[in-house]
Amino acid sequence: MNHGDILDFAIDEATNQLVHIGQVRKGLQCNCRCPTCGRRLIARTGVRYRHHFSHLPDELRLEPCSGGPETGLHLAAKQIIARWRYVDLPPLIVTEKAKNQFGVECEATLSIPAERMHVVEAILPDETPWTDDWIPDVVLRAANREVRIEVKVTNGVSGSKQAKVQRDGFPHWSTTYPL
Ligand SMILES: [Zn+2]
Repeated sequence: MNHGDILDFAIDEATNQLVHIGQVRKGLQCNCRCPTCGRRLIARTGVRYRHHFSHLPDELRLEPCSGGPETGLHLAAKQIIARWRYVDLPPLIVTEKAKNQFGVECEATLSIPAERMHVVEAILPDETPWTDDWIPDVVLRAANREVRIEVKVTNGVSGSKQAKVQRDGFPHWSTTYPL
């Protein structure tokens, strides 16, 4: 067993939807493709190992693919978040220090209290027209605000995207969810 080739999620060929290993028939009857390279996967649902998808061993030898597990988890997380009915936003406190006209250091603190945001609309910008020059993974909208969410599996927000988030004045924070 190739330990880099264990996928929990794959793309169903018939529906083009993400499916979990627990939802499919075994072997090639799963009719699934890798979310990264698009090649066919085998559903390995024997008794010895945790059930998982893997590439066809010969194909992997010819042309390796290591991104499938991460891409699958990333897609699954996006779809789960897009179904959230509410989000508990943590409090956000921003402190700025500056010298005033007399050269005295001053400090100003702005705080946004914690809030339960009720989602009225969820958008996956990858799948809809999106005009901004940075693309969040999921956008959740409430009556009075919008939250843009980045899913981190092993890679976080890129440096250039982080700069654009700051340029556009979005308050931001990160939260970790254990798998
Ligand atoms: Zn692949």
